[in-house]
Amino acid sequence: METTVGRHRRVIMFPLPYQGHVNPMFQLANLLYSKGFSITIFHTNFNKPKTSNYPHFTFRFILDNDPHDERYANLPLQGMGAFSRIILFNKCGADQLRHQLELELSAKDEPPVSCLITDASWHFAQSVADCLNLPRLVLRTSSLFCFLIYASIPFLDDLGYFNLSDNTATPLLDGLGYNNVPDDKRLEEQVAEFPVLKVKDVIKIGFKKDNDGMGDIISNMVKQTKASSGIIWNSFKELEQLQLETIRRDIPAPCFLIPFAKHFTTASSSLLDQDRSFLPWLDQQPRNSIVYISFGSVAQVEEKHFVEMVHGLVDSKQSFLWVVRPGFVSGSTWLEPLPDGFPGERGRIVKWAPQQEVLGHEAIGAFWTHSGWNSTVESVCEGVPMICSPFWGDQPLDARYVSDVWKVGVYLENGWKREEITNAIRRVMADEEMREKSRGLKQKLDASLIEGGSSYESVESLVDYISSF
Ligand code: UDP
Repeated sequence: METTVGRHRRVIMFPLPYQGHVNPMFQLANLLYSKGFSITIFHTNFNKPKTSNYPHFTFRFILDNDPHDERYANLPLQGMGAFSRIILFNKCGADQLRHQLELELSAKDEPPVSCLITDASWHFAQSVADCLNLPRLVLRTSSLFCFLIYASIPFLDDLGYFNLSDNTATPLLDGLGYNNVPDDKRLEEQVAEFPVLKVKDVIKIGFKKDNDGMGDIISNMVKQTKASSGIIWNSFKELEQLQLETIRRDIPAPCFLIPFAKHFTTASSSLLDQDRSFLPWLDQQPRNSIVYISFGSVAQVEEKHFVEMVHGLVDSKQSFLWVVRPGFVSGSTWLEPLPDGFPGERGRIVKWAPQQEVLGHEAIGAFWTHSGWNSTVESVCEGVPMICSPFWGDQPLDARYVSDVWKVGVYLENGWKREEITNAIRRVMADEEMREKSRGLKQKLDASLIEGGSSYESVESLVDYISSF
């Protein structure tokens, strides 16, 4: 086992314990390791990484290590409620983080620590790092556009966008069915300050100024990201050029845009076991013939919406591979609500898949996604067009960009309606122009990775920057 031999600088990394945050942090860790840094990972017990997949890293438990600590017991594991843990850790974690960092900084048998890299949502880490004179970089796992919108939440709230959600649009977030929304024309209007968005996109974010713990997390995340020594994004310059210019104007910390999926897979950081048994079946399917369906690691649907999805899929008559995570349908353990005979010969259902590998498979013709940022970037990396069914947070913003700006997908913006699902699937599978645009985006991304390209330069300048501390 190689650990610190021949490695003269160490980076301490602290991911947020959710799949969509763990994956890019471990991809970044692999990248920095490949550039000669020694890696120490701080992690929680909740959603702890599979440490045996990383014999070359050092791991330290932090925050919820005491099984008798009642603060962390009985917190929800699925849906929006799962994030209550983040609120609590941010409130209570400073002393433990400081203590562990002090131990690392004084360790004689390890290389000296260059910097701390934490998820941007660990906002409490900034003041701890400041006290120890330790540079803290953040990994922001959403788009640059999402950061700009999150930074504008107080302003959008003052303009009254979120009041609308109290009155007419609450059902938008109520199970995300959208079916019972009163016919309020304002929801379809453009947001004057961000014309790419409709008012309902802003409401679907689901957090507003000071409304709850998540509102606070977002505003502190923005504040402490601005105060950090650098921001690493899972993205590439050609995808978000204007946003990058805006951020560079407003924030002194340097930005590094790296499309992680092009560097390392997420296979070893998967918290769930990836089922590979369907791959021989996938190998036999014609090129671009399969719809890959997955809604990420946290989202949940109501049973009636799940049934609507099934009907939309059946009526599209397309073949599919569907990841249905246990717990995805509220109130069910796994597939109980499925009608008899489904999926039949046309499809396969698995609990969890090697998503990047699947998206790179030539049989995949479209990705029906919840528009999580990792999933979106992974799809762009493979040139696969998307059908977007966002739930909350950054997802409605990503979906709007995919459909209206990059034009590499369709946004199912009225919720779970079988006819619309059928039409969207058929359209994306058949639309050659959209497929061509998806390929074009992938080509830009591939070009950015070649020496002299923007993503290549980002990696090099990040390594130089960390080495300069
Ligand atoms: N993923 C996976 N297998 C699956 C579904 C998802 O490995 O069956 C991975 C996917 O490749 C991505 C992550 O889980 O890296 C999900 O992150 P994303 O930001 O898309 O969504 P979140 O789970 O945070 O909502």
